[in-house]
Amino acid sequence: MFGTIDGTGYEILDPVFEDCIIGHAKIERLWSGGRWVEGPAYFPAGRYLIWSDIPNNRMMRWDETDGSVSVFRDPSNNSNGHTVDQQGRLISCEHLSRRVIRTEFDGTLKVIADRYRGDRLNSPNDVVVKSDGSVWFTDPSYGIIMDYEGARAESEIGACNVYRWDPESQEIESMATDYIKPNGLAFSPDETALFITDTGGTHEADGPRHMRRHSIGADGKTLGAGEVFATSTAGFFDGFRIDTGNRIWTSAMDGIHCYDSAGTLIGKILIPEIVSNVCFGGLRGNRLFITATTSLYAIYLNVNGSRL
Ligand code: MG
Repeated sequence: MFGTIDGTGYEILDPVFEDCIIGHAKIERLWSGGRWVEGPAYFPAGRYLIWSDIPNNRMMRWDETDGSVSVFRDPSNNSNGHTVDQQGRLISCEHLSRRVIRTEFDGTLKVIADRYRGDRLNSPNDVVVKSDGSVWFTDPSYGIIMDYEGARAESEIGACNVYRWDPESQEIESMATDYIKPNGLAFSPDETALFITDTGGTHEADGPRHMRRHSIGADGKTLGAGEVFATSTAGFFDGFRIDTGNRIWTSAMDGIHCYDSAGTLIGKILIPEIVSNVCFGGLRGNRLFITATTSLYAIYLNVNGSRL
């Protein structure tokens, strides 16, 4: 199961990438059997990873202590992206119920957001938590434009926005309204910038397939206009994470693409399935977990995630 997998390997596009990887470290396939998997989230306290198998309407759990995989939640309301907040709670985006929820310490589910100014959200896709406790998420329409990953419905909002949930008011405000399909998002390590991908090209000819970088206002609650940081050279950027050296490790069609802080593609990790999302994990944050089409992969790197 953990032997060398066909179609994996590294592509060094800039010599600096050699210092970011461990040349003899192999890609491991930890599990396979999903239809379209996304949303890995690593829990250090329990040493396990949660992710979504969206069309199969279930969430899976991989145990780092023994490598076992089990079903964590079924049905999952076609959950997609997940993250772990500062208190260690699971926060999840759900397509079918068109909401963002938090799994409380007692196991109950608390709705973080399901409407914006009275209208139902489209189908929240990916979510991150800022150090001030605010929850930022994207709301493209993938869960309502077909019945495969949710349920077909009209958009009540009529736009695909990025939102911020305020921990004090418990309300959401739109932060960016000029995306076609906002998708993955992540803060820079110092939280002065928020990176957001736009996968609008999946359903629109000549639509975007890039990642934008927004500066964050001094109040921590506003975004700058957001210039294009990088455009994908293979398929789409979906989910991504940033290491402590400000390098971006993003999903793409042929694997993981690594960009330096200037937006230069410095290397790739080739994966034999289309990659959707990644997250850092392991007790030192130096293991990258990769959800890719039907499978969960992992690779040890010579960098550490700025967050999991
Ligand atoms: Mg996504």
